[in-house]
Amino acid sequence: MKALDELTFDNRFARLGDAFSTSVLPEPIADPRLVVASTAAMALLDLDPAQAELPVFAEIFSGHKLWASADARAMVYSGHQFGSYNPRLGDGRGLLLGEVYNDAGEHWDLHLKGAGQTPYSRMGDGRAVLRSSIREFLASEALFALGIPSSRALCVVGSNTPVWREKQERAAMVMRVAPSHIRFGSFEYFFYTKQPDQLKILGEHVLAMHFPECLEQPEPYLAMFREIVARNAELIAKWQAYGFCHGVMNTDNMSILGITFDFGPFAFLDDFDQNFVCNHSDHEGRYSFSNQVPIGQWNLSALAQALTPFISVEALREALGMFLPLYQAHYLDLMRRRLGLTTAEDDDATLIERLLKLMQNSGVDYTLFLRHLGNETGAVSTARLRDDFVDIKGFDTWAADYQARIAREDDGSEEQRRTRMHAVNPLYILRNYLAQKAIDAAEDGNYEEVRRLHKVLSNPFEEQPGMASYAERPPEWGKHLEISCSS
Ligand code: AMP
Ligand code: MG
Repeated sequence: MKALDELTFDNRFARLGDAFSTSVLPEPIADPRLVVASTAAMALLDLDPAQAELPVFAEIFSGHKLWASADARAMVYSGHQFGSYNPRLGDGRGLLLGEVYNDAGEHWDLHLKGAGQTPYSRMGDGRAVLRSSIREFLASEALFALGIPSSRALCVVGSNTPVWREKQERAAMVMRVAPSHIRFGSFEYFFYTKQPDQLKILGEHVLAMHFPECLEQPEPYLAMFREIVARNAELIAKWQAYGFCHGVMNTDNMSILGITFDFGPFAFLDDFDQNFVCNHSDHEGRYSFSNQVPIGQWNLSALAQALTPFISVEALREALGMFLPLYQAHYLDLMRRRLGLTTAEDDDATLIERLLKLMQNSGVDYTLFLRHLGNETGAVSTARLRDDFVDIKGFDTWAADYQARIAREDDGSEEQRRTRMHAVNPLYILRNYLAQKAIDAAEDGNYEEVRRLHKVLSNPFEEQPGMASYAERPPEWGKHLEISCSS
């Protein structure tokens, strides 16, 4: 266990030089106070959890202090936003403080979001507001606890520094932690600015640091691209299986590692709805829940374009063709497990689709239905769940087929099935209204609710005493919250 001043830095990305990032120091925010910290994320850096209690913790993660060996940098990238190419984005308010090298031999990027203006800020103020910082913190840690790859969050530090959005708010910073913050858009930038040497340097860096096993393949770049396709197929299968809507799947928000990244107006589904659009400025529903799958592939093809100097178009096309089958296999596997099935039958996909359609038509709570299904697979039958459905007859027909399907499983006792299902069907998810309640309290200076919610979501599959209210359907007001896209 280390103290803050015992961290070891090894700034590999910064060493690539000024073509890839610009040296910028964080601009501190006033009167820093710790809102919430994740001891699980601190453990990635070998940090002693007691460090979070020290004033220096909030001082560092609000830009007041910096390690001498950290080399703070704003990273350059571009990307496709809502389908159109934006030639110059880059870290407009986040800084890669440095890469920490831990005792297990892993490197972790420390990326401070809301750290002030950079050469890439354009018209922006370089800041992040408290509400969006809390949402990013909670989502990062909640996704991780669900087993969905994500960037992590070490802490949120709030302040008295005013920030203007639709109204006056307060600035905060969220400390993000991930093995890399390189995006699809990082490659696109060097491709479209016609800098082949830099593109190659970036490619070699990513290969060596993040995909070393690909270097042993006859075509390392192709092997890497295939791996990126595979990771994104698996990631998006998890989003779909757990009802996570990212909201801003621009290529600058897609991680080269296939982890959930750059949180904006994201949401978990309450009522199941394929057409759900969580981003209120997404008028055409480009990033609707069900569109995440084709958009995932679209984004990969944008990355493929930037890799054409290294890989033949035919090989890229073939690798892209793996996306959908891989996605479908992962999704089906996850959904089978959520339904308590351990074997595969040809009709399983149809059984799942029929259930989702019934849920869609009746606005059934996605998470709670599947959680409760785990209690009802045996002799008690699914009758207790039918009241949620408008089409009761339709549900009964489905339930009878489901019971028959379960009866063909040879997988131990009902009790064992329940345990198995509960281990993949969360009781607690980050519902927008839960986040909003925690944010409202935090904006009044009370951080207890954020901390409690973080704790509940850190263990989403296990019933926690006294936390029943976090496992309820949202109140009507909570279902229709408009989450501001400004952040
Ligand atoms: P996002 O939608 O958060 O992924 O951001 C898109 C781009 O806008 C990135 O280049 C960000 O760095 C930049 N950006 C977003 N908000 C701000 C802000 N308040 N100040 C400066 N740049 C920003
Ligand atoms: Mg972004």
